[in-house]
Amino acid sequence: MSMIRFVTADGLPGFLAHLAKDGQRVLVPVEKPANKPSVVFEPWQEGKAFTLAKATVPPKEAVLPQCETLFSFKKAKDPADPARVSLQLEEAPPPPPTVVFACRPCDARGFAVLDRPYLHGPFADPCYKARREALTVITLTCASGCNTCFCHWVGGGPSSPEGSDVLMTAIEGGYVLQAITPRGEACLAASALPDGAEVFPRAEEARKAAWQSLEPAPDLKDAPQRLAALFTDTTFWQEQTDRCLSCGACTYFCPTCYCFNITDEGEGLSEKGGRRLRSWDNCMSSLFTREASGHNPRNAKALRMRNRVSHKFATYPENWGSFSCNGCGRCISNCPVCLDIRAIVLAALEKGADA
Ligand code: SF4
Ligand code: SF4
Repeated sequence: MSMIRFVTADGLPGFLAHLAKDGQRVLVPVEKPANKPSVVFEPWQEGKAFTLAKATVPPKEAVLPQCETLFSFKKAKDPADPARVSLQLEEAPPPPPTVVFACRPCDARGFAVLDRPYLHGPFADPCYKARREALTVITLTCASGCNTCFCHWVGGGPSSPEGSDVLMTAIEGGYVLQAITPRGEACLAASALPDGAEVFPRAEEARKAAWQSLEPAPDLKDAPQRLAALFTDTTFWQEQTDRCLSCGACTYFCPTCYCFNITDEGEGLSEKGGRRLRSWDNCMSSLFTREASGHNPRNAKALRMRNRVSHKFATYPENWGSFSCNGCGRCISNCPVCLDIRAIVLAALEKGADA
C-alpha cells in the first residue's frame, strides 16, 4: 500500500506551516468577497485564512503564469564599430519550489493536460518544465459533483489521481492523505503526521460514495469523429454560438487552455534593456487569429467556438489520446450568457447520429 498519513482538521495549519518551511511557496484556496464572491489560490502565510472550497479560478498559474518574463535582453554598440551590436540575454530566475494545496482532481488533471504539449511534444518548454519539476500537487477529493461539473464524462472522477502527488480525502475528524507519486511519498515522509493506514478504509468509503452520487455519464467516445464531421456545418456552429459575447471568460477560467502570445517590451539599446513576455491568449477573441495583412481566418464567433470545442474534444484527443477538457465546469459557471460546452458536445453527437 502507498504511504498513508492522517491529519486532523485543526492540524491543517501546522501541516501547511511544515510545507512552507525553507521558503517553499504553498498555494492555498482563499475566499475573496468581492462583487462576485470567489475563491482563488494565494500563497499561504502563518495565520492566513484559507478554505477547502473548490476554487473559482484554477491553479494553472503555478505552471503557466498569466504573464511571465521568458528572458531579458540588452544590446550594446561597439564604440569602435557602431555597426556591430552585441546582444546579452539573461534567463528568468528559477521558479520557487511550490505546493498546490487542496486543488480538486479536475485541476490536477489539468496539469496532466498541459504536460503533454509542454513537456512531451517535439520540444519541452524550459520555463514550464522548471515550474512543473518544482511542483507538488496535493489534491482534495470531491465528496460529490455539482450541477456544472462533469469530470466523469471525460475520463476523470471525484477521486481521480491523475496529475496529483497526494490525494487527500475528508473523513470524520480530519483528512486521510495518500501518496500517489514518489514526490508525494517524499512530501508525506518528511511530515510529522501520524500513519493513517487504519483509517484509510473510511477514505475509500467516502470516495466510493462520491462516485455513486454522480449521474450516469453519456458515452463521448464518438465525439472526436462527430465534431470533425461537423467542421464545415456553419449553421450548426452558428446555432450553438448565437448567445456568445466573445468575452473570453471560458478560456481564462479554463485549467486546460494553454495558448499564449509573445511580446517584447522595452528596447534592447536603452539603459534598461528589454524583456520578452509570454502571456495567456484567448482563442475566443477575434484578434487571436488576425494576421498582419488584416485577414482573419476565424472572423466569426461561430468559427472561434468551433475551434475551441473541436480542439478540446477532437484535435487534442487525436494528438494525445484523451480529451483536453477535464469537466471542471468553470467555463459554464463563469459564462455571462450560460453557454454550456456539454450541450454543444451532446448536440454534435446527436447530429452526427442523425446523419
Ligand atoms: S464565456 Fe460565454 S460569452 Fe464569453 S466567450 Fe465564452 S462562451 Fe462566449
Ligand atoms: S472547457 Fe470548460 S469544463 Fe472543460 S476544462 Fe475548460 S473550463 Fe473546465
